[in-house]
Amino acid sequence: MTIARAIGIALALLLLFGGHSFGRPAAAVTATKTTEIFQGDIVELKIPGAGLTAVEGRMGKATIPFFSSGSGYYTAFVGADLEAKPGLVTVIVKGTTTTGIQRDSQIWLMIKPKSFKKESFSVAAEFDQLSPEVLERIRKDQEQFSRAFMTSAPERLWEGRFLLPIASEVSSPFGYRRVINGTSRAPHTGVDLRAALGSEVVAANHGRVVLLGDFFFSGHSLVLDHGAGLYTMYFHLAEFKVEMGVAVRKGDVIGLSGMTGRVTGPHLHWGARVNGARVDPFELVNKLGNSETSSEFTPP
Ligand SMILES: [Zn+2]
Repeated sequence: MTIARAIGIALALLLLFGGHSFGRPAAAVTATKTTEIFQGDIVELKIPGAGLTAVEGRMGKATIPFFSSGSGYYTAFVGADLEAKPGLVTVIVKGTTTTGIQRDSQIWLMIKPKSFKKESFSVAAEFDQLSPEVLERIRKDQEQFSRAFMTSAPERLWEGRFLLPIASEVSSPFGYRRVINGTSRAPHTGVDLRAALGSEVVAANHGRVVLLGDFFFSGHSLVLDHGAGLYTMYFHLAEFKVEMGVAVRKGDVIGLSGMTGRVTGPHLHWGARVNGARVDPFELVNKLGNSETSSEFTPP
């Protein structure tokens, strides 16, 4: 997000929450101007905090937690899933004033389609069929991931900029779509980073290990919860260097890269999730904790 855009959002919300409106009883929901977000991207929402003791948001079923920042604002990061339907969505924002009055408002987000890399190819059918036993295992794997994604700490555990988990280039981009034997496959929900076998993989930010195990597609996999509904994922590891449930600090070695799971060569698959949306993990590096687009956060 550009500075101008962040300021634009802040101004729109200042008009909404600012000044004279506090002290009056809660009014009907008011619309503000629309913010654009592309599929797989993250946008920062800022609300002037003067006169407010708490702010929370909702987008569909997802909770959008706002936190008080050092600069007198409440801020939230909202992600658009890579397969989110393009169009207008609403973030309902509830602010509580120092006198206990609740003010509701809404922010409109326009989700814009993004063109992801796409390739079609054919493989022999026997390489492309999964047995009923394997399909059952995949279903159980997905349940474990779903459970892990319900355990986020309510507060932000992360601080400042996110790190790349490994200093390397992208070998397969976010959102890459494959059409195999004429059938569209699930899009690539992370980025693949080149990694020789046994390279150190570090935690992108502070957090807690909420999933650690061996899965059919992703092999030895580790999920970190960074709090407030933000997760990062590290797949195809050769070895874990941390245990389930432990707290990790940004830059800690959490594993060694490998080629476990359904892969053709060694690499690190790195994924990210915010408010249930699968987003490009480079968005964390480029937008979160970046002093040009947001302020440094202090715990609420
Ligand atoms: Zn991948």
